[in-house]
Amino acid sequence: MNFSAISLREELKGQLSSMEQSRRMPHALVITGGSHASREEFVRFLCMWAVCKEADKPCTECSACIKVKSGNHIDVYTAKGTGKTDSISVDEIRNITRDSIVIPNDADRKVYILTDADKRMNQEALNAFLKTLEEPAQNILFLLTAESLKALPQTILSRCTALTLENDVSISAEIYEDAVNILKGIVDTNELELLKATAVLSTRAKALEILPVVRSMLCDALSLSVNAPRAEEDQVCRVLSKKLTKSKLIALMDATSDAISKVNRNVGLTLLSTWLCGEYRRITSCAT
Ligand SMILES: [Zn+2]
Repeated sequence: MNFSAISLREELKGQLSSMEQSRRMPHALVITGGSHASREEFVRFLCMWAVCKEADKPCTECSACIKVKSGNHIDVYTAKGTGKTDSISVDEIRNITRDSIVIPNDADRKVYILTDADKRMNQEALNAFLKTLEEPAQNILFLLTAESLKALPQTILSRCTALTLENDVSISAEIYEDAVNILKGIVDTNELELLKATAVLSTRAKALEILPVVRSMLCDALSLSVNAPRAEEDQVCRVLSKKLTKSKLIALMDATSDAISKVNRNVGLTLLSTWLCGEYRRITSCAT
């Protein structure tokens, strides 16, 4: 994959390259993290990659890449949505499904873009989309973007590969270490380890720095659970993806998001740590 057209963190580049090299490009990707604009840019990049005619994809200069940039490639469809909220209707999903069975016109695959899927798809549309994902046509790529994975059902997430863009904050080594310790605590059989690790959530500022890192690393572990691990991968993410099921990883991400909103709502931090430890413990010890 040619990354000269986009700035991505090394981890994400490695993830995409290994998918491409192993020819295990999933048929559905859900992109979270970053800003709305950075998600759109990443979608355009992946679109170009999917249809590019050159060997080193995306070249950004061939006729196919240029058509993606101008938004009129025949094999790339962007869900339009209807009404004030631009919601993606069940009819539009059904049309996409019907269209996805027809072979591509020009490119090697057809691409369908569903931006803000977490906000624009209601239950009915999600159910229809799930059916499409369960029996996907050949040579297609669905690109979903979402601000939060929380609004998307687990049934859909389990059939997509999640890719997380970096948020525009640089993480200090100390914060990273604290987040790693919490993640290690989650999978440690000794309950004390998790209690000790979450003790760092002692000030609001620290909690708001550490918890988003925990969440983003859980998301990385989730993406790893469907892709082959690589040598440079975070050790702790690899352990999490091995020890925990996808649905548990999603539930852990949700609990972390809840914790972040609790901090923002001024919930007492001692109470928060206790609650979070309890949630993490409940999720990791339940049956599925
Ligand atoms: Zn190209």
